[in-house]
Amino acid sequence: MEEGEGIKVILLGEVGVGKTNLINVLFGMDFKENVASTSGADCFEGELKYQEKSYKYFLWDTAGQEIYRAINKIFIRDAKIAIIVYAIDNQHSFEEVDFWINYVKENKGEDKYLIALVANKSDLYEKQMVMDEEGQESAKKHGIDFLTTSAKTDAESFREFVNNLIIKYINLTEGKETNNDAKKDSIKINKGDKNDGQNKKKCC
Ligand code: GDP
Ligand code: MG
Repeated sequence: MEEGEGIKVILLGEVGVGKTNLINVLFGMDFKENVASTSGADCFEGELKYQEKSYKYFLWDTAGQEIYRAINKIFIRDAKIAIIVYAIDNQHSFEEVDFWINYVKENKGEDKYLIALVANKSDLYEKQMVMDEEGQESAKKHGIDFLTTSAKTDAESFREFVNNLIIKYINLTEGKETNNDAKKDSIKINKGDKNDGQNKKKCC
């Protein structure tokens, strides 16, 4: 992994699970009750400092295409990290997790990449249909990392999860084991000011 080279991260999953909001809060923008569904693909750019190097990364939102499951295969092929999202109050979104994981695997080449699973909307525990254990079990089955979070109330845990995935990917490509102590000291995320959306770019 070369310093300066961008690491592409893609969020996948059913419509309405909170992908756009997770990306928004990751970049310091406010959680929104209503997000206009856009077409095409949105991209945010961030930077992460790790072991005195600076790594650029791009977060791709699939912006409406998930309705038709017509995610541009080029996005998937180029992504180094694919985060599959479901919502704990939406059984169907969990049932489709295997579809999305297979979709990524089918469209990847030989390159090294990571897949992770995120259970969103943990604040809606009163409407919970998918238990945490089920998510954990699925992640274990696929051998991937798992996080339960809420774009609404717990942006920090998602931010930390994404940072850790990026570091894991860097270490994977450099053939190193992840060192947890080094991790804590050196992460610095570059996020946009609240609400300004300046890090949001139409295409990276
Ligand atoms: P996407 O279609 O996967 O991009 O989902 P959106 O980010 O557009 O969110 C769909 C709906 O779920 C919106 O009304 C959001 O406000 C809501 N939503 C997203 N994340 C959360 C969350 O963590 N908690 C709650 N309560 N609602 C959420
Ligand atoms: Mg969206």
